[in-house]
Amino acid sequence: MKRVVKIKLAPTDAQARALHDTLMLCDTAAGVVSRVAQASEDRRAFALQKAVYHQLKALGLSAQPAVRTIKKVADAYATRGANLEAGNYGPGGGKRATDIAATAIGFRALAAQPFDDRCLSWQQQGSTISIWTSEGRLKAVRYVCAPWQRALLEHRCGETDLVFRDNMWFLHATVDVPAPEPVEPVVVEEFLGVDLGIVNLAVTSDDTAASADWSSGAVTARRGKYTRTRRTLQKVGSKSAKRKLRRRREKEHRYATDINHQISKTIVAQAQRTGRGIVLEDLSGIRERVRPAKAQRQQLHSWAYAQLRDFVTYKAASVGVPVEVINPRNTSRTCYPCGHVDKANRITQDRFVCRVCGHVDQADHNAALNIAYLGYVKYMTTTHGYWAA
Ligand SMILES: [Zn+2]
Repeated sequence: MKRVVKIKLAPTDAQARALHDTLMLCDTAAGVVSRVAQASEDRRAFALQKAVYHQLKALGLSAQPAVRTIKKVADAYATRGANLEAGNYGPGGGKRATDIAATAIGFRALAAQPFDDRCLSWQQQGSTISIWTSEGRLKAVRYVCAPWQRALLEHRCGETDLVFRDNMWFLHATVDVPAPEPVEPVVVEEFLGVDLGIVNLAVTSDDTAASADWSSGAVTARRGKYTRTRRTLQKVGSKSAKRKLRRRREKEHRYATDINHQISKTIVAQAQRTGRGIVLEDLSGIRERVRPAKAQRQQLHSWAYAQLRDFVTYKAASVGVPVEVINPRNTSRTCYPCGHVDKANRITQDRFVCRVCGHVDQADHNAALNIAYLGYVKYMTTTHGYWAA
């Protein structure tokens, strides 16, 4: 199973300058190759290599980066050729297609550059790398990584990309890890209920109002900021606004993925530690089911509920924790202690007060308890064919 491990570099200022100059040089080289390719009949890597290899060496590229750059340009021309052929730039002979075919392909400055083992070596003991740069071999560039990333690096295979993003340096290393053996699910008698929400991302039946800290400001506020920026950019609609929009989306996606990893890890660890299963709601219909206020609607769209459910499911499966998925109908309107169902029980977003028995709770927490109970019923019914109240 191939995965990419993202390792943050901690270069000194001088090292960072050398890395920067290296990516700039690779970009210049790509421009040189691209202009040659545009003027050539044969744009395959082999033909381009004969034409430009010595020129790239003279620029200061060593052998492997030169070959990689040529390959990158050849690939880009092959893709463009296929797109032109397929009519993806409008009809052949049309203005757009003709313009595109007549212009050399441009490459983004500071684009990621792949390095193989000859140009990049790892000293895992000291957490440093040595890497080819335009200023010669750069030694002892420090990197920082978590223990689990370090373990993955043992399975490194093939090339590693040097990436500059958000003013930081990263290595994206490809690793090939053996697929985990599926673990036989353990038999459980209790379940941890998880309520996924708009304001509080995830509240479990173990939480108290005070401990439900996924809600606390940061995530919500940051999502709000993304939404506003996106609207502004969408209105502008220029080419650079579109590019900014795409980057913004990628950044938001990375952030969501990161949060989902953290939440799912916490939930699965909690269930495993206490010998319980996990219950989630089936939120595939969430857009139709809930009608949040207008300001919240955008946040809801942009959040990857499906991803969170996926993460919980596969992490739970890898440690044998059973997962039940239940219908979310009425989970937020039902009083957990007495079972009374009433929309009016939920008096505000946050507060639950039962109209019949007077039970008071944080609303998402009450829902999480109902979810845990429904999951238990479903599990007992499907696994044992009965359940005892
Ligand atoms: Zn009640």
